[in-house]
Amino acid sequence: MSKKYIYDDNKNGPFYVHDACIACDTCTDIAPKNFKLTHDYDHAFVYNQPNSNNDISLCNEAIDACPVGAIEKY
Ligand code: SF4
Repeated sequence: MSKKYIYDDNKNGPFYVHDACIACDTCTDIAPKNFKLTHDYDHAFVYNQPNSNNDISLCNEAIDACPVGAIEKY
């Protein structure tokens, strides 16, 4: 069984991106305060964990919208 790799650049907290990410930019459009792509456009990561209910909702929306299921929560 292959184990997913959780990117080190995710900020500590409940939301994270793992190596299924194809850098499609969907989560960064939905929740730009929390997700961004690496400078080389290799993958997205959580650079800021959401605090407000609205931002948490947007991050949950990003989970649902991610085409490859690369965003998860602890
Ligand atoms: S929506 Fe999913 S595949 Fe697209 S950039 Fe975000 S984590 Fe990566």
